[in-house]
Amino acid sequence: MSSSLTIKNLTIVFSRVQRPLWAIKDLSFSLSVNQRVGVIGESGCGKSSLLKAIVQLLPACSKVTGQIFYGEKKLLTLSAKEMEKIRAQEIALVPQESINALNPMRKVSKQLADAYYQKFPFASSQKAYLSSVEMLKELGFTEPEALLQAYPYQLSGGMQQRVLIAIALLRKPKILLADEPTTALDKSGRLLALESILRHSSSSILVSHDLESIIKHSQQIIVMYEGQIVEVGETKAVVAAPAHPYTKALFNCQLKLPMNKREPLHFIATQPLKKKEKGCPFAPSCPQAMAICRRQTPPFYSLGKEQSSACFLYDKQVRQEKIF
Ligand code: SF4
Repeated sequence: MSSSLTIKNLTIVFSRVQRPLWAIKDLSFSLSVNQRVGVIGESGCGKSSLLKAIVQLLPACSKVTGQIFYGEKKLLTLSAKEMEKIRAQEIALVPQESINALNPMRKVSKQLADAYYQKFPFASSQKAYLSSVEMLKELGFTEPEALLQAYPYQLSGGMQQRVLIAIALLRKPKILLADEPTTALDKSGRLLALESILRHSSSSILVSHDLESIIKHSQQIIVMYEGQIVEVGETKAVVAAPAHPYTKALFNCQLKLPMNKREPLHFIATQPLKKKEKGCPFAPSCPQAMAICRRQTPPFYSLGKEQSSACFLYDKQVRQEKIF
């Protein structure tokens, strides 16, 4: 598969009064054409910052280094105007904060039409209207004509979320970046939203806490912890045999239905690294941590063609010589 988006050594630092905050540290991966990638990890691990960095929507207090290639284009070097065009026609983001992302002064119909014209500037107003109605129907609205006349504040959180998905999909993006696009939706709304995302975008990066959706709708999984990728691999391979202790713990925390009342609930008591520069980010919380884990950052170890993990447990020398 040819590569559509390539991220190399991406680092994001937010400047703060006390000390800088590292949101992402030295992160690299590729999204191929027609590929679906799912990103999982706890809140605050840098998933949203990653998506916003790709479309350059991070706040001014952030400093982004590294490289983001979209085909031949280096996104981090583009002007604001060039980037605006990429966001309008090529790479769409469904942001997490739905009420903040919608314009409170404009009716839903105007906001959907704006999105449609960004991609199809010469389309008729009737075509824009009918396309909006069709998209809202796909997303489960039974009375889309009435919804188009509403203002965002008149909608529930779930409705706002679906309107944001519609805005992104009406642009027929080559890449869709979706940040928790279904959190406010019930199960059927979730299914409709994810099916629409698959139907209207060829490549996507889906960030979600909903592991079930990620497993079902992605070909590759990226597991993030404290701003770093700790495991990456083909979804089937990672689900069949999660390798990194954090991935294992994360999978273990998923509720299995029906619940066994005698089985205790699992959780991860995570603690951040005190010194951000060195060591495995999961070391303070890892039940298998060794001394080397606190001294050095583990590189990626390949566990076959489809999976790799940044964990010293897969270093033969560490295991054989017991560099504890
Ligand atoms: S590198 Fe060490 S601390 Fe980090 S996950 Fe592996 S065993 Fe645990």
